Amino acid sequence: MKKSLLFISCLIIIIAGCKKEIKSENPLLNEWDTPFGVPPFDQIMAKHYIPAILKGMDEQRNEIRTIITNRAEPDFNNTIKALTYSGELLNKVSRVFGALNSANTNDSLKAISRELAPITAKHRDDINLNDTLFRRVRSVYENRDKFKLTEEEKKLLEDTYRDFIRSGAALSPEDKDKLRKINKELSLLQVKFGQNLLAETNGFKLILDKKEDLSGLPDGVIAQAAAMAKSLGMDGKWVFTLQVPSMTPFLQYSDRRDLREKLFTAYFMKGDNDNEFDNKQIIAGIVKLRVEKAKLLGYKSFAYFTLERNMAKTPEKVFEFLGQVWDAALPVAKAEATAQQELIDKEGGKFKLAPWDWWYYTEKIKKEKYDLDDEITRPYFRIDNVMEGMFYVANRLYGLTFTRRDDIPKYHPDVNTFEVTREGKHVGILMIDNYPRPSKNGGAWCGTYRSQRRDIKGKMIYPVVTMVTNSSLPSADKPSLLTALEAETLFHEFGHALNNLLSNITYPGSSIPRDFVELPSQIMEHWVLEPEVLKVYAKHYQTGEIIPAEIVEKLDKASKFNTGFITVEYLAASLLDMEYHSLTEPVDLDIRDFENKAMQKYGLISEIKPRYRSTYFNHIFAGGYSAGYYSYIWCEVLDADAFQAFKETGDIFNREVAAKFENEILSKGGTRDPLEMYIAFRGKEPGIDALLENRGLK
Ligand SMILES: [Zn+2]
Repeated sequence: MKKSLLFISCLIIIIAGCKKEIKSENPLLNEWDTPFGVPPFDQIMAKHYIPAILKGMDEQRNEIRTIITNRAEPDFNNTIKALTYSGELLNKVSRVFGALNSANTNDSLKAISRELAPITAKHRDDINLNDTLFRRVRSVYENRDKFKLTEEEKKLLEDTYRDFIRSGAALSPEDKDKLRKINKELSLLQVKFGQNLLAETNGFKLILDKKEDLSGLPDGVIAQAAAMAKSLGMDGKWVFTLQVPSMTPFLQYSDRRDLREKLFTAYFMKGDNDNEFDNKQIIAGIVKLRVEKAKLLGYKSFAYFTLERNMAKTPEKVFEFLGQVWDAALPVAKAEATAQQELIDKEGGKFKLAPWDWWYYTEKIKKEKYDLDDEITRPYFRIDNVMEGMFYVANRLYGLTFTRRDDIPKYHPDVNTFEVTREGKHVGILMIDNYPRPSKNGGAWCGTYRSQRRDIKGKMIYPVVTMVTNSSLPSADKPSLLTALEAETLFHEFGHALNNLLSNITYPGSSIPRDFVELPSQIMEHWVLEPEVLKVYAKHYQTGEIIPAEIVEKLDKASKFNTGFITVEYLAASLLDMEYHSLTEPVDLDIRDFENKAMQKYGLISEIKPRYRSTYFNHIFAGGYSAGYYSYIWCEVLDADAFQAFKETGDIFNREVAAKFENEILSKGGTRDPLEMYIAFRGKEPGIDALLENRGLK
């Protein structure tokens, strides 16, 4: 008897073993036998996503069923842990889809994302609004003192419970139905918003075919525009697009005021052209649904709902903080505008400074004051060198080594892949994808194809991280040469990458609050122009000469230049975000009118547009930053203060401070309260002074 039982169990193992060997035709459903288990990009096709995602949802539904039909009393392991580890396939596939739909999309992926949005919203609601599941979660939560939980487990339990409440688990059946409808509609509108924006961004080109139209433009900028034209089959012409690396240099240097106006107007009218890609009605719909959702869940406004989970906690706190910085920055911006108007008058220009003039006259004044412009510094910021520079900083601070790997599948030839190690041990994979293309969303971001965690048996899962930017393209005779700001953006995204790479947590799914997650990224920006770092990487792309000390000095002096504008255009967008999400009643908004009135309320001057106008404010209408765009400057209070911790030791590479930053912040992910983490690192709460000082607004 025993013998035959043993035989049967062997047979089962063999069958199970064999089963694993049979590969699906869908690579998303297989174990990935690529190096380090990166997604097999070369095999994945658009048709594979939906079946894999549906299968992932099925698997998760079965896992949830196992949890809720468990006869045992709910405890941490059989409920919270089981729930946290459910949906592995779904998570794995969704990450790949989400990342590629942002970085390398096409019509098929866009159609899939439209198709998936309501299915995903429903799947999520089916879990979050499942009564039996919620009762088990609540039981564990209410009996939490009976279980021996680690700090991370306690936080996971609290977050899980709170997320259920926030997702509507405690609502009546009728209200649950209402919420489902809202979530479904919201998901569709958000996707549509992003797709309209991409269409509008790609839909405009400033095509120039006369030399005189290029007046004022530096050779490098002209060469880039020629390369762009060539790539679009318009050899011999010059093309400028609404992508920032193409548009900004034109606004900075073009003597042709009419063309600056044309280009910038196309930029700030994106999504507001009353055409098929117009976003105004979509925004009105999103805002209205969000108020309805917040009220249904018992919050006064969507801002209250969102901020509860952030470090700031309440809208009052955010408005108060933004107001403080606004009051410091607006007079500085006004003085900057006056200086530009004086220059216009002095030159005999008989016009009032307009938003499309700002970059041009700023550049002139900067040149006059500091004898500095982007074209002087670009040759020292070759993109490969800048990446070497950020790797150097990570090496000095955290002992990390980055080794290029060309044997790992990539989704586009522009991707650079690195294996990250420390003392010879694998840490993770980092992919960096730098150049703009029509298939890529605007801006820069960092994400993961796989986040660090331990599997259900405790085995370490290493992260696969991706960094995407839209940096200056190489031209026919020059490699990609960055502006100082673009170099800073690379360091910024690299900071997010380090946060992911150095994460050392047990459970998947812990999320870092929006208004804390920019600390690890923004602190990296402090190293980019430090002389000690510049001398390592800022080498002339032709001669190899290290950036001269006098240019470094000029860069330092100019770093507080134009900060009134930079701060005000950013704050204007943050305030606009807060205004939309502070509405307490679902009303039918006239978007142009709402935006104008909101900006008038704060006294924004007509020479400055908010960094994002409503119709292309992807962060808040499609990108998860709703009532959260303030986070960048909120985190600047933290990063300015945190960098002081290094400075105070007299060594910007101080290993002890770095170790503390890694142990208390980078490695912890979202497993601890942010303020607690910060105080554990710094010993005290930060003040606003370092921020104002850094921006020259004191
Ligand atoms: Zn960031």
